[in-house]
Amino acid sequence: MSNFLIAGNWKMNCGPSEAKQLSDDLANRWPSGSFQCEVVVSPPSISIPSAVESLEDTDIKVSAQNTHTEDSGAYTGDISTPMIKDAGCTHVIVGHSERREYYGEDNDLVAEKARKVILDDLTAIVCVGEKLDQRKKGEQEKIVMDQLDAVLNKITIDQAKSLVIAYEPVWAIGTGETASPEQAQEMHLFIRNFLKERWNEQRSSEIKILYGGSMKPANAEELLSQNDVDGGLIGGASLKEESFSGIIEIAEKLS
Ligand code: PEP
Repeated sequence: MSNFLIAGNWKMNCGPSEAKQLSDDLANRWPSGSFQCEVVVSPPSISIPSAVESLEDTDIKVSAQNTHTEDSGAYTGDISTPMIKDAGCTHVIVGHSERREYYGEDNDLVAEKARKVILDDLTAIVCVGEKLDQRKKGEQEKIVMDQLDAVLNKITIDQAKSLVIAYEPVWAIGTGETASPEQAQEMHLFIRNFLKERWNEQRSSEIKILYGGSMKPANAEELLSQNDVDGGLIGGASLKEESFSGIIEIAEKLS
């Protein structure tokens, strides 16, 4: 299989000085050429320049956590893909459940954002996932399918080379509760098959499907060992060099 993608989502943590410290720690631990997998960190936008500078001589890439659909204009508080690129990022997280929940981002807006990210030659990490009540009602596949369908309708099979999907069951984010490896594999396979039906076997196998939801060194091995789990989107455990590196080490071991 292709290399794992290990992505850290720092959320609204780490201002510029803390981001510099954490990035310096990661740069010391992982000098250029020291891992096979792909590693990305996603600081808050104000801290992107310090992370980019500290990680300059490493293979660790930097992502934004969100973007607007326009290039510029009267959108107070927002940032755009040309700005994100100019700052040295390669990836953008789109449609995180916290954006969907607290900022009312719906499937159409998430899809527009993903399209814009990809059109501007960045990689979109698109988050999908059901809430607890939806899983209890057995609706998880329908929810994820609708979230995914909106995005796939906006991009071509060729553009899908710049698409990463993160399956993040909302009930497992920041709760300490993790989907079981079987639950994760079941949904990842569902997503893989959905991609295959839409496009083809080759493209569906190339698109990385990350698991997100309380991943940490203690559970990363069993999750990353699942056939269709191609990496992780990690919140809490990405805020400490030790725990984030612990997950990278496991991905390296399994590669
Ligand atoms: C996330 O924010 O994408 C996430 C998975 O958070 P945590 O690892 O803290 O559950």
